[in-house]
Amino acid sequence: MVHRNNLLILIMSILLLSCNTGNKEEKSSSDFQWQIDRFGDAKILRYQIPAWDSLNLQQKELVYYLSQAALCGRDITFDQNYKHNLVIRRTLEAVYEKYSGDRNTADWENFMIYLKRVWFSNGIHHHYSTDKFFPEVSRDVFVGMMQKSAGAEWPMVEGQDYNTFMEWVTDLIFNPEIAPKRVMQDEGSDIVAASACNYYEGVTEKEVDDFYNAIRKKEDNTPISYGLNSKLIKENGKVLEKKYVLDGMYGPAIAQIVYWLEKASTVAENDYQKQGIDKLIEYYKTGDLKTWDDYNVLWVGDNSLVDFVNGFIEVYGDPLGMKASWESVVNFKDVIATRRAITISENAQWFEDHSPIDPRFRKPQVKGVSAKVITVAQLGGDCYPTTPIGINLPNADWIRRDHGSKSVTMENITYAYDQASLGNGALEEFCYSPEEVAIIKEHGALAGNLHTDLHECLGHGSGQLLPGTSSEALKNYSSPLEEARADLFALYYMMDQKMIELGLFTTLDVAKSEYSSYIRNGLMTQLVRIVPGKTIEQAHMRSRALIAGWCYENGRAENVIEKMVRDGKTYFVINDYNKLRTLFGKLLFEMQRIKSEGDYTAGKLLVETYAVKVDPALHTEVLERYNKLNLAPYSGFINPVLEPVIVDGKITDVKVIYPDNYTEQMMNYSKKFSFLPNLN
Ligand code: ZN
Repeated sequence: MVHRNNLLILIMSILLLSCNTGNKEEKSSSDFQWQIDRFGDAKILRYQIPAWDSLNLQQKELVYYLSQAALCGRDITFDQNYKHNLVIRRTLEAVYEKYSGDRNTADWENFMIYLKRVWFSNGIHHHYSTDKFFPEVSRDVFVGMMQKSAGAEWPMVEGQDYNTFMEWVTDLIFNPEIAPKRVMQDEGSDIVAASACNYYEGVTEKEVDDFYNAIRKKEDNTPISYGLNSKLIKENGKVLEKKYVLDGMYGPAIAQIVYWLEKASTVAENDYQKQGIDKLIEYYKTGDLKTWDDYNVLWVGDNSLVDFVNGFIEVYGDPLGMKASWESVVNFKDVIATRRAITISENAQWFEDHSPIDPRFRKPQVKGVSAKVITVAQLGGDCYPTTPIGINLPNADWIRRDHGSKSVTMENITYAYDQASLGNGALEEFCYSPEEVAIIKEHGALAGNLHTDLHECLGHGSGQLLPGTSSEALKNYSSPLEEARADLFALYYMMDQKMIELGLFTTLDVAKSEYSSYIRNGLMTQLVRIVPGKTIEQAHMRSRALIAGWCYENGRAENVIEKMVRDGKTYFVINDYNKLRTLFGKLLFEMQRIKSEGDYTAGKLLVETYAVKVDPALHTEVLERYNKLNLAPYSGFINPVLEPVIVDGKITDVKVIYPDNYTEQMMNYSKKFSFLPNLN
């Protein structure tokens, strides 16, 4: 599973609920340019690799080889997203290289926006909505550009001449009837046949079901992930799997991945890790899903400093949730930040025992979940350029049950989001005073990290149900109530002296920063994600609205949170942080009671009163203020370049270079890491 909610990321980056590396040195790198491009509804950021030089040569070499492997699967992602994505990408890139006409025109600019969007989404469908998007240039203008691209090597498929190719490819790009949606979810349609993704061809949803039902073993306690690494097609009337394997589909790219993994194996940190890498190679060579499971079991147990994800893993791109897109994330442990998560986890019992809830609802024995914090060194496949901010793998339920899973937070990525947002004006727009802005700029990143740690490592796992209470008692209100409970746990403890005692921070200003961000977000700024006229639906948003709204109302008599209006703009100001903390504790007391007793009526009332409705006037105002800032809702990243220093045929060091040109990186990848034919 990935934590990839782009809108969440957007909100986090705007509102600084997000994270940093916890590394003061990195924070001073204010002259580093975080955002390097902006087009359509997207922006391109850069991330840094802090502590790179804390790795020894062998570890650097290992990261380098794994990074090369990560880049070799890029074409697979394009092809998986849509059968003709590679043809389209190569056509656009040929025009980009050869077009001899005037490049200082609006048409050219629009052409470039389309090309960048295709790169950004790994294809012609929006990476988030999965709807097909179109160029802002007309079809005629585009044909003219192709004609003025003498010497272009067009990615024709067999039997085509230029004219038939040109007709065909422009139709693929411009015709709204062709492949309108990558992942169709609408009930009532054949979601397999109606989805443009390339996991199935010539088969219906029923044929897919029949095929896998026939081979799925009954009563299997450790089932393989059926269908994970193949395309299902019909050949001569027969349904069969085309496997992603060294001598099968995507073989040329897989061969390159294997080549680099074999090099990585020679510099593994230890024998255990080497065993894992070798198992992964074996899987790529055989396509055997049992081997894939064996590999994942090894991977879960691998605690080496350098770590990586590489394979066909997430199934969000398949309407049936069975077939996986290829992805890679190469990383190493952020030792300092991981220590923070461990500290919290190790003190789980103290937090539970002091929680402001009815003692009957406390857990006598509580175990914190400890998450690893990582530094990303390279992103590939479906994780590039839009990346998750956290991963929890493997996905196989039985491996999670029997062997556990690894939960990681990518802190240099969230740090980059955070830094990029500092200069975007959102804080200045929505904070009442410069002091508020200053406190968030100084502490917001750490505060956001700690909130996440407390929420994830402790909040969700705290408390217990009364005997006889069903875990389903809160029904459709259970998600927002559960998120609110975990948030309240985090908010309550954020301002506890214990945090200072444990060395998690040195000043309660960190807590103040989090309180002010949270309240502003819950009462006001998260409304930018709501379409006018709609209500709040998403669970995390409801949770924030509930907590902030309840505290505002219940603190009114003492003016704990004050609504201010200046020059027609609304602000919410916290007058008393300690009283706000008391309110958080009170609401947590009630929230835990609702959960422990399964009090559906009380839970429903809280959600419906505070967490659903939107004040239309405030909503309009917030949208207007936000739109003036002209922020891009989606972000992607370019990769740092890892460059080996080679002396006498041996790697003596690996240098990190931070490129600043998105187009260059994309063209470079298309030249150096493109191994698949036009049609696969
Ligand atoms: Zn949660």
